[in-house]
Amino acid sequence: MELEGIEHSRDRALLRQKSRDFYWYSPVLKRQLDGKSADLWARPRNEDEVLHILRECRAVRMPVTARGGATGNYGQCVPLEGGLVLDLTAMAAPISLTDGVLEAEAGAKMIDLDLWARERGWELRIWPSTKRTATIGGFVAGGGAGVGGMSHGTMRERGNLLGVRLATLEDPPRILDIEGDAANPVNRTYGTTGIITRVRIPLAPAQAWRDVAISFADFPEAGRFALAFAFADGIAKKMCAVFDSRLPPFFRGIADAVPEGHSLALVMVTAAGMLALREMAAEHGGSIVAEQDSVAAERDPAATPFYEYCWNHTTLQVLKKDRGVTYLQCRFPFEGTLESVEAVRAKFPDEVWMHTECVRFGGRITMTALPVIRFTTEERLAEIMAGFEAAGAGIANAHVFTIEEGSGYRRVPGDQLGFKRRVDPLGLFNPGKMLSFTA
Ligand code: FAD
Repeated sequence: MELEGIEHSRDRALLRQKSRDFYWYSPVLKRQLDGKSADLWARPRNEDEVLHILRECRAVRMPVTARGGATGNYGQCVPLEGGLVLDLTAMAAPISLTDGVLEAEAGAKMIDLDLWARERGWELRIWPSTKRTATIGGFVAGGGAGVGGMSHGTMRERGNLLGVRLATLEDPPRILDIEGDAANPVNRTYGTTGIITRVRIPLAPAQAWRDVAISFADFPEAGRFALAFAFADGIAKKMCAVFDSRLPPFFRGIADAVPEGHSLALVMVTAAGMLALREMAAEHGGSIVAEQDSVAAERDPAATPFYEYCWNHTTLQVLKKDRGVTYLQCRFPFEGTLESVEAVRAKFPDEVWMHTECVRFGGRITMTALPVIRFTTEERLAEIMAGFEAAGAGIANAHVFTIEEGSGYRRVPGDQLGFKRRVDPLGLFNPGKMLSFTA
């Protein structure tokens, strides 16, 4: 393979390192994916280099797995069949910001894009709690929910992804520029439908965000507060998470502020919303125990923005001290949300440490959850997931590596499968991750 002039390596230690993500959160995936490794790593600087690498790979039928910040949780960028890991992190420039639309290279870190946009009066609408390490391309291809989701929904919500430039493995490989609904086929397909080289997303006007920690004597009270806050349309907000009393002691920066045995809500609200938030917290029996400037905290490497206790950072905070846990991903129903949360808490009082996040789907608000689970066996983990489903919660299985099995709908949308056939007829993009595709 001819890669002269392009940064690449066949060093075994480097390849092992570049073939991993955060799949080890799941004991099931750890068993299945440990030891998988690419044969070659390359880091292109521009679209021409991407196309050159793809031409070379196509010629020898070598699999190509894209890699951004490698913070994915389901082994999305672990190459199951070896081949080449295509590292996008050298393609990290913001390109333009016009009328609130940001275009950036796919390997740009989300924190850097937010900073760049803020200097121009705008900010990202949605980001994962890994904002300080994840890339925008990886968020589109491998994630899609997170901070901002209670106001703007997920990346799958129409309007949150405006377009992409994409390198294909057609004969010959080429760049497509697709927008609107036509860009859906790259949304959360784990890089199986092409290499995203640029992303276009809408921004929101920049706001002064506050991180606020509110403690509650019991969990149901905190849950009632969180939903009421989520529905309070007069308060501009980005995040509201609730944790049962076993979790705050793992949150180093704020643990001491939370009274022992208290549940916790973590909120991101605009400075202008603070008065209403204070009144609402008091009305629900909550006490504000910590507060900080969100934007200053995320810019300071020594500080922890509160979103780094939320979403899947909750699991990470616990894993730092206790390797005997894992997690689930689920979505509670729109009606009877809190009843469903309480039903699973009552069913699994010891093994499930509840953690919910308020989100909006199609204009309706509910809670998703990433509870921390005390792990014993894979069979027991499956029983707990079944228990959640019986209580009305939809499970998005975080312990599988294919798109279909991990989806709450257990399938890949037809347009994504059809698009894959077109842009990757040989099935070389991240093989094994889109289960319903056959070359
Ligand atoms: P990677 O892990 O590098 O890649 C993810 C997938 O996208 C892989 O399949 C890869 O092949 C593909 N890919 C990457 N770049 C491209 C590209 N340019 N073109 C095509 N395919 C590409 N996720 C959330 O959605 N919300 C959260 O709040 C969240 N919190 C997390 C917290 C922790 C502590 C951890 C470890 C993970 C969390 N995640 C979360 C998962 C993950 O961090 C995000 O999905 C993140 O956006 C992935 O970005 P990345 O750059 O690290 O992607």
